[in-house]
Amino acid sequence: MNKRDISLKRAAELKSRIDDYLNIKDLIKKGTSVQQKENIAKMKETILEFFKATEDDWQDWKWQLKNRISDVDTLSKLLDLDEKEIENIKKVGENYRWAVSPYYLSLIDKDKFNPVRLQSIPTGLELDGEGEKDPMAEEFTNPAGSITRRYPDRLIINVTNECPMYCRHCQRRRNIGSVDSHKSKEILKESLEYIRNNPEIRDVLITGGDTLALSDNMIDWLLSELRSIPSVEIIRLGTRTLVTMPQRITDDLVNILKKYHPLFINTHFNHPLEITEESKAACEKLANAGIPLGNQAVLLNGINNDKYVMRLLNHELLKCRVRPYYIFHAKHVIGTTHFNTSIDDGIEIMEYLRGYTSGLAIPTYIVNAPNGKGKTPILPQYLLSRAKDSVKIRTWEGEVIDYPNHPTIDIKSLL
Ligand code: SF4
Repeated sequence: MNKRDISLKRAAELKSRIDDYLNIKDLIKKGTSVQQKENIAKMKETILEFFKATEDDWQDWKWQLKNRISDVDTLSKLLDLDEKEIENIKKVGENYRWAVSPYYLSLIDKDKFNPVRLQSIPTGLELDGEGEKDPMAEEFTNPAGSITRRYPDRLIINVTNECPMYCRHCQRRRNIGSVDSHKSKEILKESLEYIRNNPEIRDVLITGGDTLALSDNMIDWLLSELRSIPSVEIIRLGTRTLVTMPQRITDDLVNILKKYHPLFINTHFNHPLEITEESKAACEKLANAGIPLGNQAVLLNGINNDKYVMRLLNHELLKCRVRPYYIFHAKHVIGTTHFNTSIDDGIEIMEYLRGYTSGLAIPTYIVNAPNGKGKTPILPQYLLSRAKDSVKIRTWEGEVIDYPNHPTIDIKSLL
């Protein structure tokens, strides 16, 4: 065979490696598909009619936040719920708060297993009592104010417990409580003082709840205070509003954020259905302001523990200029354990990303070690053995190869 024939044979072989994905990807729900756009538009109309609200109201994040649906009577007027579901939602509501922004609710269709529905509407499975309240032991890593510190050079400031939608899988559900509460300025000042007094802190993550549930003024104040600390090199914001209330990304907010570069935003898309025209536009506004965007998905049973769903999610994210950053293995949090998957599910997903798609679409799969011992990356095995002068590696296609392990020679001794 000549070189061209060999290349053509290899190209055909490579193409066949993703035939399965190409056959299935159009069957996965996507917020930007024609069918889903129609469903979303219909549901939005129903919700607007119910609230006697206008398009301007819909586009106003304060209206979205104020009109979160959080009682069964309202919900049952907007979604088909049977007696059992109503009873379960009431029971769950006695233990754990729930609320859904009108926007996020509009992504739910008639399918009982709709991934947005599973993430936002309580089910009786939350009542099984398994799991822990605080598996990350965050309460033991709080040296001052509302700080969580688990690493040498970075920390978290928790600013609020409010979110546009309370995810049924939330690892911090113990903080959600029964009322919205932002941390007071005194607590935040104490947190800032701690950072000022510990100059090894070069990276600060502001999170909640949802950071962007704070007012523009508060965000501006907090960011300017952080920027006045010389040792703080980068600031990160954690927010799910891009997914649950993209109306929050206003021009005014973007103008505030872009004063404080280098500033990064990490968000939390779990399924391609959550990527809609509105959420795409919100991502675009932030990306155009020079804010790098990353996604931290959580691996969730029945939602995204599927190699094709995860691959499509990561492709769709890149199209919105959001870099897939982490896939978190779900923790054993009370009321959420039905979402837990095996680690094998996560490894299988990673196995079918590496090589099958571009490196940009490959996040790191992370298990959070218990008791705040930190993020631990989990990978399929590519290094099979390691000897002094050679290693055995496995390629993404499964071929096992011996590879030389030459010692590093001090470059100065060679010159
Ligand atoms: S947005 Fe984040 S903090 Fe809020 S409920 Fe969801 S996972 Fe929890």
